[in-house]
Amino acid sequence: MPLAMFASILLSMPWPVAADTAALASRKRSRYSLTILLDPPGTALPRPRIYGPAGRPLVVIDAGHGGHDPGAVSAETGQREKDITLAVAQAIKAELIRSGRVRVALTREDDRFLVLGERSEIAHAIKADLFISIHADSAQPSSTANGATIYTLSEVASDREAQLLAQRENRADIINGVNLGRQRGEVASILLDLAQRESMDASAGFANLLKREATGLIPFRPDFHRMAGFVVLKAPDMPSILLEVGYVTNPDDLERLASDSGKINIARGIRRAVEIHFARKLAER
Ligand SMILES: [Zn+2]
Repeated sequence: MPLAMFASILLSMPWPVAADTAALASRKRSRYSLTILLDPPGTALPRPRIYGPAGRPLVVIDAGHGGHDPGAVSAETGQREKDITLAVAQAIKAELIRSGRVRVALTREDDRFLVLGERSEIAHAIKADLFISIHADSAQPSSTANGATIYTLSEVASDREAQLLAQRENRADIINGVNLGRQRGEVASILLDLAQRESMDASAGFANLLKREATGLIPFRPDFHRMAGFVVLKAPDMPSILLEVGYVTNPDDLERLASDSGKINIARGIRRAVEIHFARKLAER
């Protein structure tokens, strides 16, 4: 209901409009009441804590899903994607802090829901230089699909599976009632932006670097780099990748992701790629 209509109903109530709200509140409550929840104007984005020495480039790690959105759930063990992504993100954070060469922030450090657009907006608001979203894939229960895949943003999906995955991941917003059609339109329109094209190239470059540096630490799928229209990767001003660390539908992947060594290996691979990425950028100056 538009606010104006609500106001006009209020004004047409049989009782005289109270001079102040206190008088209105003290009035005997009607049997029926109508509550309209409006977003408070200018709701501030959560501002994450930034770890690491000042002046260093800032990497934002985004643990996918959270809160009432569990992401993919293992039918066998009940392990949830939102817990896996948070544990992996924490391991990456610890490794990057240890490296001392970058600053690091997490879009969420606990079990909370964030709208997809908020995740890249948080990174943008704190002037991140690199955005890495962590997810865990799922496949048909009978599928043997396993291993990690790096996704970057593209107008046209690299293949049908990538397209379906982007649709599944983008669905996190539907859970929260966000109009996905509008978001899709946004992705399409920002892709026309030159800055977006540049950051898409830089994202693809980082995807290749990560594959090279993390080989032996992370088991990648043969087609390790794929592309699709992920809403979470739409920030035009920083290289952004989405790393599917493995399949919650694959027992070996689940075991690896639950183990300390599995998480530390992912973190090490990312740390190596991150260090080289920023060393190269420094050299280009
Ligand atoms: Zn996911």
